[in-house]
Amino acid sequence: MSNHYDVLGVSRDASTEEIKKAYRKLARKLHPDVNPGEEAADKFKQVSHAYEVLSDPQKRRIYDTTGNENGTDTGFGGAYSGSGFAFQDIFETFFGGAGSAGPATRTRRGQDALINVRIDLKDAVFGVNKKIEVDTAVVCPTCNGSCCRAGTHPRTCDICGGSGQVQRAVRSILGQVMTASPCGSCQGFGTIIPDPCNECNGEGRIRSRRSLTIKIPAGVATGTRIQLAGQGEAGPAGGPQGDLYVEIRVAADKNFIREGDDLNVTLAVPMTAAALGTSVNLETFDGEQELNLKPGIQSGEVITLRGLGVTHLRGFGRGDLKVHLHVETPAKLDAEQEELLRRLAQLRGEHLAEGKLAPSGSGVFARLRDKLGNL
Ligand SMILES: [Zn+2]
Ligand SMILES: [Zn+2]
Repeated sequence: MSNHYDVLGVSRDASTEEIKKAYRKLARKLHPDVNPGEEAADKFKQVSHAYEVLSDPQKRRIYDTTGNENGTDTGFGGAYSGSGFAFQDIFETFFGGAGSAGPATRTRRGQDALINVRIDLKDAVFGVNKKIEVDTAVVCPTCNGSCCRAGTHPRTCDICGGSGQVQRAVRSILGQVMTASPCGSCQGFGTIIPDPCNECNGEGRIRSRRSLTIKIPAGVATGTRIQLAGQGEAGPAGGPQGDLYVEIRVAADKNFIREGDDLNVTLAVPMTAAALGTSVNLETFDGEQELNLKPGIQSGEVITLRGLGVTHLRGFGRGDLKVHLHVETPAKLDAEQEELLRRLAQLRGEHLAEGKLAPSGSGVFARLRDKLGNL
């Protein structure tokens, strides 16, 4: 398939304006009304498709970087060969409506809105109901979206007689044709609001702060988006609400670090406890957990507590909690403690003199060697 730039006959760095121009020129030549025949129709489809991609900055960027427009935009895949492609729409935006659509409606769907919500790691583990406030457009309480002052009604437009369109004779590539264009007097609505509502200035909606409680499921992570259908901005003139997207930010926790659905925590163990073994209570999101540390544990050992991690967002169950043990060597010794340790070293036959310590077979050095592998 030839590339979209060649199809339109423009260079790769062509401006949007140049692309538009090129498309117009080709569309005039190839439109089925002007140029019946299969070949022209095919060509027209190609040209229109190339235009649809290159005229949309986002699609163009995807096309430029990936060489195809499918990129990440799933809604667009297969449009070229499929039947869903609405090249007719593009044509209509240039040459005026092909079929007369009647008056436009004031009522439109509201915009989608996006807000960020910050939650604690614990809330991500278990899920939470969170009360949030959104600045949004709501239906005007005074006129209920009718846009009219109380007791008044929209009146039919005198200029277009309520059709929302005015007919004009225009010279075009198809010769002299009648075209319909939106009525300037009523902006194509077919009606005029003689007495607009004071509160919303005739828009049927006002800006307001709205609070709502959202259910954040367990397992969300930073970047997870929750779609709340119909919770976005109210549309003009009582139009339906758009959707509200809630993007989650999970705050860093001072103790636990998340890795996928696993949690990691470091537990400091005094040297003596590491040598002698002990049992400790570890504070987790599921309350205190008793950990039995066997005698002789080493720094870097990991105890895995199954199922105490983050709940899987999809599917069942939870990740694990990994407790990383860190043996603390005392940094300050008083005379008596030092004496005891020297005595211990003596008893164990450990040499404290400099330069006498050699890598042992099973210690840290050996493990490091294993890790470095076959270097
Ligand atoms: Zn109002
Ligand atoms: Zn009108």
